[in-house]
Amino acid sequence: MKLYSTNNHDLKVDFQSAVFNSMPQDKGLYMPAEIPVLEAEFLENLDQYTLPEIAYTIASALLHEDIPAEDLKALIDDAINFPAPVKALSDDTYVLELFHGPSLAFKDFGARFMSRVMAYFLKDGEKMLDVLVATSGDTGGAVALGFLGVPNTRVTILYPKGKVSEIQELQLCSNGQNIRAIEIDGTFDDCQALVKQAFADDELNARMRLTSANSINISRLIPQTFYYFNAVAQLYKAGKREIVFSVPSGNFGNIAAGLLAYKMGLPVKQFIAATNVNDTVPRFLETGVYETRPSVQTYANAMDVGAPSNWIRIMELFKQDTLKLKELVKSYRYTDAETVQAITDIYEQFNYVACPHTAIAWLAVQAYKTGYPSAEETFVFLSTAHACKFPDVFPEEIAAKIDVPAQLEELKKRAQSAEHMGVDFDAFKAFLLAGEV
Ligand SMILES: *Cc1c(COP(=O)(O)O)cnc(C)c1O
Repeated sequence: MKLYSTNNHDLKVDFQSAVFNSMPQDKGLYMPAEIPVLEAEFLENLDQYTLPEIAYTIASALLHEDIPAEDLKALIDDAINFPAPVKALSDDTYVLELFHGPSLAFKDFGARFMSRVMAYFLKDGEKMLDVLVATSGDTGGAVALGFLGVPNTRVTILYPKGKVSEIQELQLCSNGQNIRAIEIDGTFDDCQALVKQAFADDELNARMRLTSANSINISRLIPQTFYYFNAVAQLYKAGKREIVFSVPSGNFGNIAAGLLAYKMGLPVKQFIAATNVNDTVPRFLETGVYETRPSVQTYANAMDVGAPSNWIRIMELFKQDTLKLKELVKSYRYTDAETVQAITDIYEQFNYVACPHTAIAWLAVQAYKTGYPSAEETFVFLSTAHACKFPDVFPEEIAAKIDVPAQLEELKKRAQSAEHMGVDFDAFKAFLLAGEV
């Protein structure tokens, strides 16, 4: 696969360089130069295929020049080793559960695939890959668990002290092996600034092989297309055809993957982008003006993004055709009060506990149904995280119904360890150099 930069269509790189560099030097984003449309035979018979088969078919259409078939198959089986079930809540409403991976959030799809692709491209005897990642919560856990035990890699996670949930912290600090956590006495922005400064530091780059694991890496986007096709496959089995996906969105990577899947032939009628009050995209679709704003903290904190980095990818997919995009993607925003009310409504109507991000996606389905009534459609809202990751948001009665997965009980028994640092770059740099190999 060849990729171009959204800032320079003439710049073309291969998949391996796009994976290791994450971002072109011109600060654009990498996009596939050609998007293959999957065979009609495959698309019409999706319900005959399993998730690993679907994943392989998609990945191979994109990456057959980059990774030989047998290796790609093995890589996918190793990365996507957990299910993505679609569960019926009523005759026309389904929830796509994307939280059955090790970190209990959908970011496991991207992080596990990316870690294995990077490990695959690392040649024997090459310098160890040092992955630096700043996290506000979910990304760090998915990246840590994605790289855990992957040979010739090491991950250093920076997280802001007192600003991640207890379970998120447990996932960051209980790994050992090739994963190191640093608790920074500062904000998420401070963590991100330290990581950026490290990437810009000549001495560090000369002595270590640094790479980033942030969400704009193209190898995180690709595996997120798999579950859209797999969801349609499951709905075909249930005799459902006109499918509408509602995606809780922050950085817009998840829905960008859905729209990439659409371009590859995903049979779907409509997308809904659901946001919290960080509503840059809903405002853009209403007014035509794209105006980013500083992010505002909400209960759905993984969606607290004022300048969604993947939006530019979506505009590229639609060749800047805003009208086409507005037809296919409807967008709605919700406040914290509406989110908490939705958690209660979903619980009362369906006896189902949804995390705050998931509840926002459900709310957007209700708005869409009111705005565009049709008897034929089937609605699928994406559940991006397990409710147990956000215990403080729930009314007590509902919180008591959340089952905590067994894997978390295991984590609690393990030793926790983190380094503690301020926001001083020299201390962070000295820490990195001390671990030089
Ligand atoms: C990251 C995240 C989101 C937002 O996904 P984007 O791809 O950034 O739009 C939504 N929900 C949860 C639980 C997340 O961790």
